[in-house]
Amino acid sequence: MGKPVRIGLLGIGKIARDQHVPSIRGNESFSLVAAASRNATIEGVANFPSIEAMIDGCADLDAVAICTPPQLHYEAAKLALKKGKHVLLEKPPCTSTLELAHLSRLAKDAGRTLYQTWHSQHAHGVAPAAALLRGSPPRRVRVTWKEDVRRWHPGQTWIWQPGGFGIFDPGINALSILTKIIPDDIFPRSAHLYVPSNCQAPIAADLELVTARGAEISASLDFRQTGDQTWDIAVETDDAPLVLSAGGGNLTIGNKEVPRDPGALGSEYVSIYRDFAGLIAREESEVDARPLQLVADIFLIAKRSLVEPFVE
Ligand code: NAP
Repeated sequence: MGKPVRIGLLGIGKIARDQHVPSIRGNESFSLVAAASRNATIEGVANFPSIEAMIDGCADLDAVAICTPPQLHYEAAKLALKKGKHVLLEKPPCTSTLELAHLSRLAKDAGRTLYQTWHSQHAHGVAPAAALLRGSPPRRVRVTWKEDVRRWHPGQTWIWQPGGFGIFDPGINALSILTKIIPDDIFPRSAHLYVPSNCQAPIAADLELVTARGAEISASLDFRQTGDQTWDIAVETDDAPLVLSAGGGNLTIGNKEVPRDPGALGSEYVSIYRDFAGLIAREESEVDARPLQLVADIFLIAKRSLVEPFVE
């Protein structure tokens, strides 16, 4: 193995602490050398207040993982690529489909890796579900993505601001699983967004989508779910029905739960960093724009209703 990739993290919040730091530190292809955050630091690395300061102050940095809110992703990724760094980009990648296309071109021109991640595509059940559906395409799909925003996103006011995605911050994870497992193009047909009267982004959404072969997909997304949390995708096919639950972590076919591959990686982010190392080694990029394009199209066609204000 060559020298480890020297990586810096931008935006030290929930996902950086919960997933990126342990996944980087557990992967010998990487060395976590720096962090950039306005209010937070990581022990044992060089800490900076901004990405500019990190790139200037850490001359031999090879890569940056961007973990800020999505409104800041594009400018940060653009700067890092222009400065010759490989970039790992958290979901949702950007607040504009055109910005994402631009980042792809910048990475190509700079000869650097852009890994635009969808962590839910790495959930245990997703690859086997995709393999099954290649042989037996879906006839009908039902997505139920309901979680308690107060529990999972405390204090994250950016979610409610323009470009914050609202319920589509988790909902885009479901869409990223759909684009991975369904072997056809997917188009939105109708959408109803429920927007709190004091917010810019929806708290819930009802969606109707359709595949190029005409299979109907309906989706209920809701941030107001207390009690049991649901991240399920149920797929009817000509063969046994398939259910992905726990955000893609569990797969059931008919009544049988598919056992987890004993060699499977422990977490979505362990898999992400393994893939990032491979992409850098092969001098490749990976970008899947379809989940973001679906959200953009949904926002274009949606009917909107105002609902009661959101108070955390
Ligand atoms: P978060 O807890 O709010 O952390 C984001 C960090 O970015 C903040 O702690 C903040 O640190 C920094 N930041 C810089 N400029 C900011 C600004 N103008 N407003 C707010 N924060 C700013 O959010 P997160 O949950 O880690 O999510 C970050 C990204 O990861 C999002 O794109 C999200 O969709 C994605 N993600 C989150 C999860 C999850 O479960 N939470 C899972 C997968 C992916 P400083 O104040 O120190 O600068």
